[in-house]
Amino acid sequence: MSDLTLADWQQRAAELSIEGRAFINGEYVNALSGKTTADINPANGQKLADIACCGPEDAELAIAGARKAYQSGVWSKLPPAERKKVIVRWANLLEEHQQELALLESLDCGKPISDTLYVDSASAINTLRWNGEAVDKVYDEIAPTGPGELGLVTRMPLGVVVAIVPWNFPLATTAWKLGPSLATGNSVILKPASNTPLTALRLAGLAKEAGLPDGVLQVLPGPGGSLGEALSLHMDIDGQTFTGSTPVGKMLMEYSAKSNLKRTFLELGGKSPNIVFADADLDKAAKMAALAIFYNQGETCTAGSRLLVEESIIDEFVAKVAEAAKGHMPGNPLDPNTVMGALIDKKQFDTVEYYVDVATKEGAELVCGGKPAQVVEGGYYYEPTIFKGVRNNMQIAQEEVFGPVLVAIPFKDEADAVAIANDSIYGLACGIWTNNLGRAHRVAAEIEAGSVWVNNYFGGDITVPFGGFKQSGNGRDKSLHAFDDYTELKSTWIDIS
Ligand code: NAP
Repeated sequence: MSDLTLADWQQRAAELSIEGRAFINGEYVNALSGKTTADINPANGQKLADIACCGPEDAELAIAGARKAYQSGVWSKLPPAERKKVIVRWANLLEEHQQELALLESLDCGKPISDTLYVDSASAINTLRWNGEAVDKVYDEIAPTGPGELGLVTRMPLGVVVAIVPWNFPLATTAWKLGPSLATGNSVILKPASNTPLTALRLAGLAKEAGLPDGVLQVLPGPGGSLGEALSLHMDIDGQTFTGSTPVGKMLMEYSAKSNLKRTFLELGGKSPNIVFADADLDKAAKMAALAIFYNQGETCTAGSRLLVEESIIDEFVAKVAEAAKGHMPGNPLDPNTVMGALIDKKQFDTVEYYVDVATKEGAELVCGGKPAQVVEGGYYYEPTIFKGVRNNMQIAQEEVFGPVLVAIPFKDEADAVAIANDSIYGLACGIWTNNLGRAHRVAAEIEAGSVWVNNYFGGDITVPFGGFKQSGNGRDKSLHAFDDYTELKSTWIDIS
């Protein structure tokens, strides 16, 4: 699809015109305070754009507009087939602008351009299109009651929904939220992460071009602590959908309880086990174990950050993973050959250094990495890092690093592997590598996680739900199950005797 070189992408980046204003009631506008914040490119530390810094007063304006649009029925009461047309048109527009969106995303996040082009933007397009296409194929129910009565089970949109998303997969997670929430007729206020507002703002203009009525989608960039909190505490928001860290997810639950019990669906952190049995295809498992942690600079909620290896093969296997890690050295995100880019910012870089220090102090043995990489001046790059000699009760095995740091933990047998895997506050994902079919099923059935991958990692599709057990969240993104998060079930009982 693209044979653009590093120089071509750099040229395009230099020519980009970047929109930094909020999108409220169908227009790009400055924050009411006039305040802006600088949006930084993590690849080189340079400013990309000034971004509107919205606050509670902008939230009021956006909520009032979203409520008005919702009540008017201009979107919420449109036949599903009509909403479908708009959303599919929107997906088509994203596709027309796919290279531009991929470039914005890569500049904003430090992600490799090949990923933002072939994964993030492609996934967002597919998600919107699939949700648009699905919504006029979902039927309500008539309950199997006796004669003389009719029990209708129907769905209503929640109303006005706020979507708060993180910086690690901005386009993809935004589409996971906007696809089903808009398809089911809600008005939505999107708050992108402060680090990565660019594609969210661009999507809003394309939505208008596709015919989405004004007020149905508002995009407010601004700080989580003031703007996010004001949205989440607001009495006139009916639902909130969130992807981000577990501590902030807990705050949103609290805000909901303190305000109007707005429906709250959370996709949170993880410390996912990737379990390798001695009978697995070890070469394939090792390559995928490296990808499982180093993909997206390790800034992936489902990263396979705990490598559980049968003790008889642990040294041999970790050596293979370390060999595979050499293929994940960081490079310039705009180089199409780069597989690992820059960490998002100095704070995340410091977090990675902190955890490398923690692991070392806890007595873990460094196998490779453990230091910054020099790629582009001003950028935050870190080498793929592996520790062995780790026990599951160490801090490095329990806390999410959200960076390219893998810890290898030995296990004795199947039961031990399951016990270690489940010994975590998180329950987002798990990999299982074995050529024993019975074992694969037995272990998969015991694992406490929303996604289990047997002889693969990161498997998934828009047709399959995604979400967490335990402190990795509730609710589900993707698939028709996502519609449950954005609709209320209504029972209407009619006497027809
Ligand atoms: P974060 O700090 O929780 O931020 C996520 C979003 O919440 C941002 O938009 C942030 O705004 C906002 N926010 C922060 N404080 C808030 C508050 N008090 N009230 C309302 N909103 C607030 O998470 P992150 O560092 O961006 O992302 C990394 C985390 O996300 C990791 O834990 C990762 O595992 C998780 N994640 C989970 C999934 C999943 O599907 N389960 C997917 C991707 C990432 P600001 O940017 O302005 O702070």
